Amino acid sequence: MEALLGKTLLHGKGEVATPSLQGGVVALYFSAGWCPPCKGFTPQFRKVYDHVKSKNRAFDVVFVSSDRDENSFREYFSTMPWHALPFSDRPRQQQLSTMFGVRGIPAVVLLDASGRLLDSNARGKVMDPGFPLSLPRCIDLAAAELPEPQGSVQLLLRHQGAEYDIECEPSEGWEMLRMQIYSMIDVPSEQLKLFGLGLPKGQLDESVPLPRALARGIEAQKHSGLQLAKVPLDARRASSSWNDDKPGERHHTGTLDSASAWCAKKEDCNPWYQLDLGEVQNVAGVMLAARLDVGQWVTRFRVELSDSEDGPWTPADDGREFAGPSYASPVRAVFENGSQLARFVRVLPVSHQNHCSLRADVLLAAGDPDKPPVIVALGNFSAGDPFEPATPEVATDAMMEEQHLAMLQAKLSSLPPKLQHQVASLGTVQGYEKKQLQRQALDEVPVVDLDASVDPRESYEIAFLRMLVRWFKHEFFSWTNAPRCEHCGSTETKTVGRAEPTPEEQHFKANTVEVAACSKCGGQTRFPRYNDPAKLLQTRTGRCGEWANCFTLVCRSLGYEARHIHDWTDHVWTEIFSDSSKRWIHVDSCEAAVDAPLMYEKGWGKKLTYCIGFARDHVVDVSKRYTQNFEELLPRRTQCSEEAGTCMAPAWHLHGTCMGIYMASLVGPEP
Ligand SMILES: [Zn+2]
Repeated sequence: MEALLGKTLLHGKGEVATPSLQGGVVALYFSAGWCPPCKGFTPQFRKVYDHVKSKNRAFDVVFVSSDRDENSFREYFSTMPWHALPFSDRPRQQQLSTMFGVRGIPAVVLLDASGRLLDSNARGKVMDPGFPLSLPRCIDLAAAELPEPQGSVQLLLRHQGAEYDIECEPSEGWEMLRMQIYSMIDVPSEQLKLFGLGLPKGQLDESVPLPRALARGIEAQKHSGLQLAKVPLDARRASSSWNDDKPGERHHTGTLDSASAWCAKKEDCNPWYQLDLGEVQNVAGVMLAARLDVGQWVTRFRVELSDSEDGPWTPADDGREFAGPSYASPVRAVFENGSQLARFVRVLPVSHQNHCSLRADVLLAAGDPDKPPVIVALGNFSAGDPFEPATPEVATDAMMEEQHLAMLQAKLSSLPPKLQHQVASLGTVQGYEKKQLQRQALDEVPVVDLDASVDPRESYEIAFLRMLVRWFKHEFFSWTNAPRCEHCGSTETKTVGRAEPTPEEQHFKANTVEVAACSKCGGQTRFPRYNDPAKLLQTRTGRCGEWANCFTLVCRSLGYEARHIHDWTDHVWTEIFSDSSKRWIHVDSCEAAVDAPLMYEKGWGKKLTYCIGFARDHVVDVSKRYTQNFEELLPRRTQCSEEAGTCMAPAWHLHGTCMGIYMASLVGPEP
């Protein structure tokens, strides 16, 4: 790389050595401040870059300037977060441009870590939502520094709540490991998805050599053998507690296995949570977890130790701040300075998410050896193609399909907008089947942590779903009524109207763009209502439409049979099929609600009319599940004729274009 780019590069206001590039993929960005298309492209590329960085992928960009003078170069480069060739090295800029055949700007050339050409015309490619997935993970590159395991390695395989020991031979590679896994859990290879080995999110990447992945997995289990003190509830005190609850009561239940947590009072400015070990013991650290029933957790904290409840208190690790847990992942904070003798351990939250709440325990030295690396294997949660009621046989020959298509097209032109909109959403649901999109979704899900928090008393697929929907609501997706002001950052914004989508917004299926005005600075901010689920994996915000769209995709990518439910009185949610109970189950991601189908009618007082389920291979009227009195619904259902037998259980196969049948039955006969 040095031979190609020279010894030093610019970064921010300073210079760095070229070998300090991350060692993943390097993009050469040929651009100039005087070029209008470049000025349009740079902020877009910057978004991609920030997104890739947030995914911890190893990616660097080096700006190769065609600016006319040093000042305009400096001005343009100050808008970029990445590296640049020094402007003074004009011959090299020329040389690179010739070497890679750059004809016009902006241009993007991708190189691998050793400077070999990957793609000489990658401007479109880097804008693809799947692009980050094609890049190596930073954590995989870092694992190259770890010692590779010598000889066979004990592995712990987790599948649907059961654990299996595997003796794995690193040199035999992934293929052999997959066969071993298959022999134990009997999930066909094409359905098998592997997670774990220290990867916090996403599937295992089998292009990483197995010995290196195992080394990373062993490293991730460092300190896992430390013993939990399991401090009882009555040995816990705190600076304050919500509602003044006493230890053991609702907001003062901070044990790791609690269904809730300890919660400080809102006005408590210096909260602390104290655990009494009963006698002086060898304290190696603490383990912290989030509140489970509501999304609240501590993001930074310190630890203090003492022999006596009255102090003096000694800051652990010289008062260092530890990173807190996330919603789904507890954190093991182990003292770098080694274990210390103490009887009382205090956790001092420094910052928190939503509210100062935690579950905690003390880690003691002299425990068991570290646990073996863990792999979580997911297969399909639901086998086959589970339909609701008995469905009429639908012939699927080509001529029929053509007729249906023609019928559909004729009908469509005169349909109410609502139905036209539903045809679009059907396309969205069928889009969930794209493997690339599912991989993108899986890359966001902390499968191993969710798996570890599953309640074993319930069937695995439902218990996992509960953790999934809570993670989605509390950690992944956010609700937006009106967007934060992009000019001054204020949240005091109000939707004032609509705007035409730009071509880029249209590309991500935003048919509507809301415009919000800021009451602080008067500036306006656009809020495109994206319907493209890949885009939603990036924006991670919206209202129920965006939530249900993205969540249904996440369910599908994990192997649930899932459908997207449209309630015509303006709400959207998800249903998944439960193999253990042999029925479809209601899931509302906005509410983190599972199997509560009457919440709309009884809880919200909705007057439901139609609730239509869209799956990858069928469309079905599911209204009956969401009401206690279907008869009462009938007079409100005016969109189609409710002939005996057809309204009770209409299900329509969607073999290609057979959805014409569905549309036709809904609209009913022409007037
Ligand atoms: Zn503003």
